[in-house]
Amino acid sequence: MNFNYDIVILGGGPAGLSAGIYSSRARLKTLILERQTPGGQVLITDKVENYPGYISIAGYELVDKMVQQVRNFQCEIKMGEVKEIIPLEKGFKVKTEGEEFLTKSVIVATGRQPRRLNIDGEIRLIGRGVSYCATCDGAFFRNKKVAVIGGGDSAVEEAIFLTKYASEVTIIHRRDELRAAKYLQERAFQNEKIKFLYSHIPLKIVGEHFVEGILLKNLKDESEFLFEVDGVFIFIGSIPNTTFVKDLLNLGEGGGIITDEKMETNIKGIFAAGDVREKFLYQIATAVGEGAIAAVAAEKYIENNF
Ligand code: NAP
Repeated sequence: MNFNYDIVILGGGPAGLSAGIYSSRARLKTLILERQTPGGQVLITDKVENYPGYISIAGYELVDKMVQQVRNFQCEIKMGEVKEIIPLEKGFKVKTEGEEFLTKSVIVATGRQPRRLNIDGEIRLIGRGVSYCATCDGAFFRNKKVAVIGGGDSAVEEAIFLTKYASEVTIIHRRDELRAAKYLQERAFQNEKIKFLYSHIPLKIVGEHFVEGILLKNLKDESEFLFEVDGVFIFIGSIPNTTFVKDLLNLGEGGGIITDEKMETNIKGIFAAGDVREKFLYQIATAVGEGAIAAVAAEKYIENNF
């Protein structure tokens, strides 16, 4: 069979880019398929401060360096959203909207997407005050009041970023303590523009054409009230992009792909790396490590089977 590639990597975030560096450096013919711009979630992260080697670096800058590194080894990067992986007698067919690629092995590194609150007004007001990306939309809220929903690293980190523009940022969290790393918490507590509303959940986002407020419920006394804001930034975690492999690969309770320590899935020749996996720690540092492992494991798989 005439294969187009040795390895097709699905997703151009840190895991996919790292896999691309390792496989193309091993002189395997490699394609990274990315549905948008390479970079994944890092691209919309203001500052990265916990990736070793960089004391502090803008997310887009880190991605830019990774992409340059990938291209230095002649790894191909193409735009395309994968629809299906079809196992063949030998190798796989990867289908996007308009193209098909024959490959000896596949690395799935499609990452995650923001979880929705699934409350009234949320979808209708996206782009009209509701956002899942502070670096993309923060500047629209200069001198305005915004709310951030969530209490994890993303919520607290993005709330700090939003204080560059907004006059007041209120973190609304369902419990009475934050989940975010202590270092981030300390920075948020010291920031005078950040307020906290603990033990509250949003019931509805209110506004006819643009966000005017959030109907909140106080979980301690069950009271409900309208909290007036111009913007609502939602950071309540994420869900893995695994719909296209749900009938092919074993997924965990959280919907992520289950792999062994070599990043191999239940299908020989298909590997998974990064945030799309069901795992303990979702970090750039772990994603790039898994990308490297997946690429080397795929290389061994190809050596033994082709
Ligand atoms: P996360 O850690 O899962 O936190 C989600 C937050 O949203 C939690 O506080 C959770 O509340 C809350 N939440 C979940 N569902 C909710 C709902 N329906 N209504 C209201 N609140 C809800 O998600 P994340 O902050 O996006 O982080 C994801 C992963 O990326 C984590 O592993 C994190 O460490 C990592 N990350 C790291 C960095 C960094 O290292 N700088 C930056 C960003 C993300 P509970 O606390 O009550 O569960």
